[in-house]
Amino acid sequence: MKPSIVVVGSSNTDMVIKARHIPAPGETILGGTFFMNQGGKGANQAVAAARLGGQVTFISKIGTDIFGQQSVDLYKKEDIDTTHISVDNKSQSGIALIIVDDMGENSIAVAPGANSTLHIDDVTKAKKVLEHASIVLMQLEIPLGTVEYVAGLAEITDTMLILNPAPACALPDSLLNKISIITPNEKEAEMLTGIVITNVDAAKEAATIISGKGVKTVIITLGAKGSLIYHNKSFSLVPAMQVKAIDTTAAGDVFNGALAVALSEGKELRDAVVFANTAAAISVTKLGAQASAPFRKEVEDQINYSIIKT
Ligand code: ADP
Repeated sequence: MKPSIVVVGSSNTDMVIKARHIPAPGETILGGTFFMNQGGKGANQAVAAARLGGQVTFISKIGTDIFGQQSVDLYKKEDIDTTHISVDNKSQSGIALIIVDDMGENSIAVAPGANSTLHIDDVTKAKKVLEHASIVLMQLEIPLGTVEYVAGLAEITDTMLILNPAPACALPDSLLNKISIITPNEKEAEMLTGIVITNVDAAKEAATIISGKGVKTVIITLGAKGSLIYHNKSFSLVPAMQVKAIDTTAAGDVFNGALAVALSEGKELRDAVVFANTAAAISVTKLGAQASAPFRKEVEDQINYSIIKT
């Protein structure tokens, strides 16, 4: 049996209209095209990990509407275990309404719905799965109390816990010191430390501060610059793969899903980050969030190609 990855997090349906311009208050515009995507950081990371060969269980919450049910059906098609996705009879499923204009500028409103009622009770039902996980992966689109509870469980069972602290939010030291690996991007690292990350030296300073709060390993993702690892008091910068970026949506989500897969297979930290950087770089060459998450073979082919080239 493959090692199991348990993702605890959000599930959304993104409803997108591509219009000429973003309507002003009170304005109605006709024209444009509509499409619907699955989203939510939890779901994006679960799908990314499953496509890369992870055995994934997704703990999440949806409403009783058709959108939530449709999401679950899609996760099943990705071979994700959906047994612990619970249903909230009183909330709607998470929905993001997005308008994108001709310039690529967007305007977004998110109704988190059932994501904000993923409480400790829901997670307790999946306690056994969490206790047997090789890796637990979380983000911050669910109640912080639930994140703290899961972190406490992971500490007791000595399970590797990866926290992607997104969206950016200040976090208590009592949570940080239970995390094995934290993966902020530049903005999130700034939120955690107050340091504006303008270059690698600033990232090093931020990583040192975050580590000082009790996190074992800090990985700051630096977009096209790659990822900075701070582990056992030493830094390692893993450069990004050079690609022509088309859409960077969910690059961080693919990075985290891939990192969880590589570590669950026992890869060394730096090799796992190379794998995650490669998967994320491939995703930015394609449109969409979950749609852009690559499959295992694409990532391996790319890594082998890079090795031959160097
Ligand atoms: P987020 O999507 O959370 O803002 P980043 O922008 O830091 O996170 O991207 C996460 C990872 O995705 C980076 O560490 C890098 O490996 C990869 N990545 C992002 N943008 C690019 C890019 N333009 N070219 C190559 N890789 C990229």
